Amino acid sequence: MAEEKHFDIVIVGGGPGGLTAGLYGARANLKTVMVEKYMPGGQIANTEDVEDYPGFEHISGAELAMKMSNHAQKFGLEVVSDEVTEIISEDDYRKVAVGASGVNYVGKAMVVCTGGSAVKLGVPGEEEFSGKGVSYCAICDGAFFKNQVIAVAGGGDAAVEEAMFLTKFASKVILIHRRDKLRAQKVIQERAFKNEKLEFIWDSVVESIEGEKQVQALNLKNVKTGETSKLPVGAIFVFIGFYPNTQIMPEGIKLNDAGYILTNFKMETSIPGIYACGDVREQLVRQITNAVGDGTTAAMAAVYRIEEMEG
Ligand code: NAP
Repeated sequence: MAEEKHFDIVIVGGGPGGLTAGLYGARANLKTVMVEKYMPGGQIANTEDVEDYPGFEHISGAELAMKMSNHAQKFGLEVVSDEVTEIISEDDYRKVAVGASGVNYVGKAMVVCTGGSAVKLGVPGEEEFSGKGVSYCAICDGAFFKNQVIAVAGGGDAAVEEAMFLTKFASKVILIHRRDKLRAQKVIQERAFKNEKLEFIWDSVVESIEGEKQVQALNLKNVKTGETSKLPVGAIFVFIGFYPNTQIMPEGIKLNDAGYILTNFKMETSIPGIYACGDVREQLVRQITNAVGDGTTAAMAAVYRIEEMEG
């Protein structure tokens, strides 16, 4: 039998949304826990430079996450390191986050802020060389490839920003995009085109990744001409998108066609007492600022619901 720990609000996931929900839950004087499998911060923990969070022209994601976490804990948020493997909605007033440690975190309400994960290319060699030159995190792995030629796959904000970051280490970064126009915001594109260490291969996809112990080359295909080529590189960083982490949600929770959780303006999901915030729910843009707003709304909606139910 799993050990049970009881709270008013259980928050699953410790990114900016979860940390903000934690701050608001704790400040409302409710017993609030945030369960996160890694360190607090979620995706921003690996973001070198955040420059679109109001009040901070430049701050590292790790520092911003630490500030958010310390702030929430100062008001009484309990932060637990555990992996939630399942969320069970037992009844209107009993929501259970099953922890891999053997602890069940039981709340009167639950806020899910589990974010999303990187999409993989799905080509031969990707799995084999993962951690050996195939990476999904420039901050984590960029420094391993000092003075080498490295590739980035993708054309969105993440690919272009991370490619620019990687030019700090690499002798050259080659961004491979499947179209001839970037999807990234114009302001980010302008900066990228001015970066002399950044080159572009357009209309091309990576067909396979090869090497011996480490990545040594990519086999590319031009999608317009069908021409194939080999590109010698020491590493490839893949930033081709993102999918929401909804695997642990109770069956029947309503999702949109792309798999993101649907909520109303109170961040209520289709299951009463379970709220969602940040990148795991349907959004126009996935930014720190909207995760923070969502976290505020979700926590306050949970607070009002608990108050109402307890009279
Ligand atoms: P994204 O905007 O969805 O871009 C994904 C990119 O990968 C697109 O260029 C897409 O090509 C390409 N792609 C998708 N599948 C591919 C495949 N199988 N093979 C090759 N290329 C493929 O994803 P993202 O860049 O991860 O950004 C996700 C969200 O985070 C966005 O909302 C973004 O604005 C936000 N973000 C913001 C910042 C910032 O504001 N500083 C930084 C990072 C991320 P197509 O263009 O042809 O579709």
